[in-house]
Amino acid sequence: LSEQSRRYISLEDQYGAHNYHPLPVVLSRGEGVYVYDVDGKKYYDFLSAYSAVNQGHCHPKIINALVEQAQKLTLTSRAFHNDCLGEYSEFVSAYFDYDRVLPMNTGVEGGETAIKLARRWGYAVKGIPENQARVIFSSNNFWGRTLAAISSSNDPTAFSGFGPYMPGFSSVEYNNLAALEEEFQRDAKNIAAFMVEPIQGEAGVVVPDDGYMKRVHELCQQYNVLLIADEVQTGLGRTGYRLAVDHDVCKPDILVLGKALSGGVLPVSAVLASDEVMLTLRPGEHGSTYGGNPLACKVATAALEVLRDEKLSENSVARGNQLRAGISSMLNDTCIESVRGRGLLNAMVIDKPKGGYGDQGKAWDVCLAMRDHGLLAKPTHGNIIRFAPPLTISEQQIDDCLEIIEKSVKQV
Ligand code: PLP
Repeated sequence: LSEQSRRYISLEDQYGAHNYHPLPVVLSRGEGVYVYDVDGKKYYDFLSAYSAVNQGHCHPKIINALVEQAQKLTLTSRAFHNDCLGEYSEFVSAYFDYDRVLPMNTGVEGGETAIKLARRWGYAVKGIPENQARVIFSSNNFWGRTLAAISSSNDPTAFSGFGPYMPGFSSVEYNNLAALEEEFQRDAKNIAAFMVEPIQGEAGVVVPDDGYMKRVHELCQQYNVLLIADEVQTGLGRTGYRLAVDHDVCKPDILVLGKALSGGVLPVSAVLASDEVMLTLRPGEHGSTYGGNPLACKVATAALEVLRDEKLSENSVARGNQLRAGISSMLNDTCIESVRGRGLLNAMVIDKPKGGYGDQGKAWDVCLAMRDHGLLAKPTHGNIIRFAPPLTISEQQIDDCLEIIEKSVKQV
């Protein structure tokens, strides 16, 4: 590491909370699929800020929308109307085929909003007795770091030492329809919603059986339970579809979006739902100072137009197939145990832990080697390295990256 990189890192270390363990690289510029460190070295970005930068870094169309709006009006709060929110609401609702949108900022706020909506619907529409509403989650879910989010987590690193926890939450095994149905059968009258990721991102890119989401939705309908799909990481072209639920031809009752909704430019999230669900909220019962701000509306509109106009879902399918095929061909003579994923949300599993940070073993060393060769990725749980480049990546660039990956796994 250069002296200036070390200086930036030590400042964070000295003055910041120690709630992250970043890969040692200090970035100062991004363009398309590339990021550049403070010394000008270029890297492929294979994390895309946890799938927020699906459209590529600093996409000119999205940045133009940001700059143009920033010179006119940035924030009104929802105390007054602005001339961006209405048109954005119409656009985003039509884009995903829902009646209405509730705009928030971060992904976790989207999840919180979805759960509040579900509880309210549970009382107002389903008729659940006061304070009895339950929400079911999946094991190994991840939807953020608020107290509600960690209350639904079964990862001790996420929840330990932060209790007491939110009541009315429980979880069933992911990708286990029988377990879900059993839970519904036991207590359907008090269950307001089941909240689930169509592919579990932070758990290590866990892909359920084909048709899982469709069957889940059928069960939800049978037991009068709302299906909340958390597409904060999987949505917006990442898995090769507009939404990951499109793979199973499933339309959730409540859809949560975030991350790439702004192409990595601003925190923008959205909750989409039907009139029946959304109109259970009345003025004053939920909101956010920045939610639905003019900048976010313009940026999100541009980000969604880029996904559509540049056919990024289609590219995600083709480049994802290419990436997995390339890594599969390395399985025999490297430390790679397996590769899985859909579209450009992928995971490479490294066998035999050895050294490195925490329980990540060799995966951490592989990431350091890839960094040295010009590709940035990070282990998620254990020995799993997530590969999620911007969806704008080309065939030639994937070939280039496969070479880097092979060189790196052979050297650790
Ligand atoms: N939901 C999922 C599936 C996520 O992967 C994440 C973040 O990684 C979140 C929600 C939370 O998003 P944010 O960090 O913007 O609050």
